[in-house]
Amino acid sequence: MTDLARLVGDIAREMADLPERGEVATYIPPLAAIDPGRFGLCVVTADGAIHLAGDALEPFSIQSISKVFALTQALGKVGEALWSRVGREPSGTPFNSIVQLEREQGIPRNPFINAGALVVADINLAGHAPRVAIGELLRFVRHLADDESIVIDEIVARAEQATGFRNIALANYMKAFGTIRHAPELTLGVYFHQCAIAMSCRQLAMAGRFLMHGGLHAPGGARIVPARRARRINALMLTCGHYDASGDFAFRVGLPGKSGVGGGILAIAPGKASIAVWSPGLNASGNSQLGTLALERLADATGWSVFAEA
Ligand code: GLN
Repeated sequence: MTDLARLVGDIAREMADLPERGEVATYIPPLAAIDPGRFGLCVVTADGAIHLAGDALEPFSIQSISKVFALTQALGKVGEALWSRVGREPSGTPFNSIVQLEREQGIPRNPFINAGALVVADINLAGHAPRVAIGELLRFVRHLADDESIVIDEIVARAEQATGFRNIALANYMKAFGTIRHAPELTLGVYFHQCAIAMSCRQLAMAGRFLMHGGLHAPGGARIVPARRARRINALMLTCGHYDASGDFAFRVGLPGKSGVGGGILAIAPGKASIAVWSPGLNASGNSQLGTLALERLADATGWSVFAEA
């Protein structure tokens, strides 16, 4: 067994026994029913080796991690023009906050807070019916992961459509500023469905490979995005991927990462690894409590922090 294989197993064993697991998200009713005892970890290294531990093959709701794939898709459609509609600064506010929008003319701080992700969904919707836009994103994610079995959990999507009043407020507020161009319910439909994509840690880590390989699907493989775009997406994940806890995540883990309220985190060690972790209990900022701790352990043991000496 390699050192990394042993490390991944050791981290999963340590996490399995910890009593302080955070709180599962309850504002999306189906997520409230998920067992907080679950834990999965998958590390895909640059040479293509895959290390799995715990519930790494169990699909969960990727929620805001979908914002990475949706942003990649939107940049492919409109390129740099995207930045006239969404900023690229950390917000220092919770993921679902509305407070900056009034002062900043309806332009969200970054594409990873909900307001910004709604604008990205609106861009992906242009010229399409919502069903087609979401189908395109699902196909893209399946392609990235080399896995046709990835699906959308319709129960989660419908639950958010019925209860996502903060997101409904954000979309309507931005519609008033013109940053959302479609009927808000159409843009929200795309957003709720992308958040309801269900993936396992293995599928997520595979889908993140293009961000470890400078934009390539795999070494020597097809180009998904230009190298500069991959660097920039990683930069946004590092600075904005954990909302008002992005600084703390950079401090503790030191890797570009994107969390979701389903308890998943996708983290990238550029040139080294694509990592996905899942533990449904969240900390006060809505990020996976043990997922963060597991990544901290992994980054400490491997020296993969982007701030480490080479
Ligand atoms: N669908 C969730 C929401 O809009 C996503 C939030 C998250 O994962 N942080 O509230």
